[in-house]
Parts: sequence; C-alpha cells; structure tokens
Amino acid sequence: MRASILSIGDELVLGQTLDTNTQWIARQLAAVGCDIGEHRTVGDDQRSIEIAIQEISPRCNFLFISGGLGPTDDDLTRQAVAKVAGVNLQLSQEWLDKMIAFFAARKRPMVDRNRIQAMLPTGCTMLDNPNGTACGFSCSLPAADCTLFCMPGVPKEMKPMFTEHVLPAIRKASGGAVILQRTLHTFGAGESQVAEMLGDLMDRKRNPSVGTTVSNNVVSLRINARAPSPDEGENAMRQTIDACRDKLGELIYGTDDDSLASAVAKLLTNGAETTDSRSIVQTVTTAESCTGGLIAKYLTDIPGSSAYFKQGFIVYSNQAKTDRLGVSENIIHVHGAVSEPVVIAMAKHARRLTRSDYALAVSGIAGPDGGSAAKPVGTVCVGLAHLPNLRQPGFRNADREEEVFAVARTFNFPGDRDMVRDRAAKMALAMLRYRLLGVPMPF
Ligand code: AMP
Ligand code: MG
Repeated sequence: MRASILSIGDELVLGQTLDTNTQWIARQLAAVGCDIGEHRTVGDDQRSIEIAIQEISPRCNFLFISGGLGPTDDDLTRQAVAKVAGVNLQLSQEWLDKMIAFFAARKRPMVDRNRIQAMLPTGCTMLDNPNGTACGFSCSLPAADCTLFCMPGVPKEMKPMFTEHVLPAIRKASGGAVILQRTLHTFGAGESQVAEMLGDLMDRKRNPSVGTTVSNNVVSLRINARAPSPDEGENAMRQTIDACRDKLGELIYGTDDDSLASAVAKLLTNGAETTDSRSIVQTVTTAESCTGGLIAKYLTDIPGSSAYFKQGFIVYSNQAKTDRLGVSENIIHVHGAVSEPVVIAMAKHARRLTRSDYALAVSGIAGPDGGSAAKPVGTVCVGLAHLPNLRQPGFRNADREEEVFAVARTFNFPGDRDMVRDRAAKMALAMLRYRLLGVPMPF
C-alpha cells in the first residue's frame, strides 16, 4: 500500500505556516503499514492542484489532501478534484443541513458564501466534520487506481476527521499490516563511528531498517519495522533493538522520548517510578561556568527532579569560583580557569557544600572569542566528584574528603557557541551516567 500527501495553501508555500498536517498524517499512516511515496505542497491555484493530483495519483493507492476547502475564492480543492475526476460539483443536501444547524447552534448567520462548502464532486463520499463548516470527501480516480481523501487544512478539524473516517478505511485495506517505529539515542560517538559499529544492520534492504540521524549532538537510530501484523512487527523490532544494543552497548542511553538527563535521573533514583522515603535516591549538584546553568536546566526539565537535584551553582567569573565555591585563587592562577584541576576543585567543593553524592563541574571556552593557541574555542573541562559511601547505613560524616572520587576530562568540541555549550552539558551528564553504571566511558 502506497500513499502520498498533498498540502494546499499559499501560506504553506510562502513559509508563513509550517505544514504540520503532512507530518502528522505521515505518522498515522506509518502506524498502519502504509508506505509514503511523496509529500507535495502547492499554493491556492486550481491548475497547480490539478497537475499535482494528475501527477501523483497514478503512483499511489491513496492520496491525502489537506487544505483549500474553505468558503473563500482561494479555496479551490473541490473544483480541482472535480476537474481531474471529470465530474461536476453537486449540492450535498446532507452537508448543507448540517452547516445550517452548525450556524444556528452558534447563533451566527450563515452567509451565502458558505454554500460552496456543500458542493462536492459528483459520486464522492462526504466525510463529516463536527468541528467546522468544511466537510471532507473521498472519491476514487479509477483510471489511476487511487482513492483521494480531501480534508480541511485546519489541524483541529483535519485530525478528528482523519482518525474517525479515514483511518478505518486504510486499516481495512491494509489487512492489519504495520510499520512500527522506534528510536534509540546515543551520545558521545560520531554518526560515522556509530554507523561503522552497526555494520550490516544498516543495510538499506534490511527489514526492520536502521538509519541514523543527528540532532542537538545526539546520534539517534531510527528503526522501522514493516510487518503483516503488530505481533510480528514487535517481534522483529525487539530482535533488531537487541542487535543494536549488542553492537553499541552502553552508548545507547535511551529510547524515543528519553534524554540523557532522564537516563541519569533513572539511575539516581534506582529506576523507582515514585520517590517515596523508602527508595534510595542519590543526589547531584552542578557547578557550571561556560554552560551557564544548562546542566541544571536539563536535570530539572524532568518532573520530580527535586528528589535528586540539590543545587546548581553558576560560577561564571573567577571570583565567583573562589567566593562561592572556595576554589583557590592559586589553582586558577597556575592552571587557568579552564583546566582539569579547577573543575575538580569546583566539583569537590560543590559536592561538599551541598552534601550530595555527586557533583558535576564544567569550565570551558564556548566562543566565539576567548580562545588561544593552547586552549582554542571549544576547549571544555568537565569534572565529576563522588563520595561513594554517603548512602551506606551508619555513614554519617559527609565530609570525608579523602574518600571522594574525582575525575576530570578535557574535550575539544567543534561548532558554534550553542553547540559547544550543549555538548559540554551533555558530556557532563554522560560522565555521570557512566559513573552511575560503573563502566568506563567508551569515548
Ligand atoms: P484551509 O482549509 O486551506 O482554508 O486552511 C485553513 C487554515 O488551516 C490555514 O490558514 C492554516 O492556518 C491551516 N493549515 C492549512 N493547511 C495546513 C497544514 N498543512 N499544516 C498546518 N496548518 C495548516
Ligand atoms: Mg487555504
């Protein structure tokens, strides 16, 4: 089964409105096993709409059209469909009555102009719209072996129409077939490195297919499983996910909506769904310079973060590092503010001051200025301090500095200021994650 999606509207081609309908429809179709052949957008021009339908319809079984069903002169979808189908527009008394009732219920007059919305191509099937005055319709183009579904452009009207009247028809035609989609997220290795590790799992002809995408410094694997039934799809999906995990190990920090911070949160709370007083929750504090609070932001993006997030220090100036955290002026003078000894001191002091299990510290040169030959823009030091026994029964003294584990790493991140800062914050979270997992960082 092959589908295409056509969006209609000047506002879409001009870039004034983002075409969210196409994305939404495509996702719904994938879930019922429909392959998508093409997306197209045309303006409010009848000839352009006709040409698009003529070109696309022979290449698919279903063509989903949204937009251009309004009452104004620039709404031309019904006319274009009628022309391509070689039929006239005919009054739908059923829809006219519903429109009259729609206006009456809202105590608004129905102007003559709205009558055009009850004119449908002869032989089509009307699709109800409880949320507006534009009904949809479906009709077949026998010569092209294609069924058209025309829906209003307003997302709040299109979505319920699609779910209630269009999807059941597609489901029936698909006979239970599905395309399941899952995403696995990795951080720390480059996209080509991840591809190399996955090897023939990324074979273009493989089903389930595995592809990589990069967004905000995260390399994600998109897995699509085409199967004749949901059970078979789930099974194939599980096997492919296991195979990816075998190849990438702990580089995979989560799936779908997971973030590095939520992965860390899960580990700090032992995966407990609720953090009642009995569950053992470990705590973390942040001391940030160049990331300006971004690690704290990521950690507190997660509901319930007060269970494990103690405090965030933003110590941007050297003086703040000394005054607020007690980092010695001498260390800063000798090694520079962007140095491993400084981030170790920041992490240790931040941990001690807040009596947290862990502290993360970051200091770096985010750019565009401030770099030097020895420390170019993108140089970032990340430090972590951990007092391992803080949670053991009977361990009362939180200030046993000799037992504190501390580590620091220096990175050189490419990209602009935003990218460097984001990468630095995520690297700090990744360091904490590997520490919590008890395995060395693989990069
Ligand atoms: P129409 O049915 O063409 O009169 O569309 C009415 C309104 O729906 C437009 O003004 C847009 O704001 C919105 N709209 C139309 N098409 C889309 C689309 N593909 N994605 C998101 N919004 C849309
Ligand atoms: Mg429009």
